[in-house]
Amino acid sequence: MVEQRIRNAKVGGSTPLSGTTFPRSKYLLTFHRDLVHIQKIMNYDPESGLIKEARYVASDNFDDRPGDSDVEALIVHAISLPPGEFGGGGIEQLFCNSLDPDEHPYYSEICELKVSAHLLIRRDGELVQFVPLDRRAWHAGVSECLGRAEVNDFSIGVELEGSDDEPFEEIQYQKLAKLTQLIQKEFPNIKPDHIYGHSDIAPGRKTDPGPHFDWQHFQSLCRQLA
Ligand SMILES: [Zn+2]
Repeated sequence: MVEQRIRNAKVGGSTPLSGTTFPRSKYLLTFHRDLVHIQKIMNYDPESGLIKEARYVASDNFDDRPGDSDVEALIVHAISLPPGEFGGGGIEQLFCNSLDPDEHPYYSEICELKVSAHLLIRRDGELVQFVPLDRRAWHAGVSECLGRAEVNDFSIGVELEGSDDEPFEEIQYQKLAKLTQLIQKEFPNIKPDHIYGHSDIAPGRKTDPGPHFDWQHFQSLCRQLA
């Protein structure tokens, strides 16, 4: 029922939720807020490879996809820097090769890595883009899925700010679902069963997005948007 209303309703002046005569119950206000979250569509610019709603932080850690590689997979990651801490600049610094090895003992171990992801969803839902979606970001490492190795060649990598030890924020699930909707529209060979966790494509080597990532909830949000 609620799902049906979400499908039928429109955001904007035509929705009864904006009328002054409609009772402004707590339910409606809550419903309206969720509706806005779910229905607001993201926009992609194929010329630049950038998502318009994302804050673009240019990383040098990318290159061209091999000529015959269509984009067929979406890889979900989780990262926090320093490990287990949220909200700092470490992730963006890592992807931009500007991590200060003196700032944290762990940073001295990883500051020479040349890595990136296409996108990051922060704890507050902010979307950050580092690499144009049509280029190859360096997020998967030694990996395999869909019967192929070198998953970076044919995938888009999305990082959630998170860890193996804590639940993700609801706003992150909502943002990831909307992002997935956009990415699948632009790259239709990413079928619903071509969405993997990093731990799925690099088992024994990677654990992210970790045991707290609720795949059922994510898939349910994706179905609502389909
Ligand atoms: Zn990962």
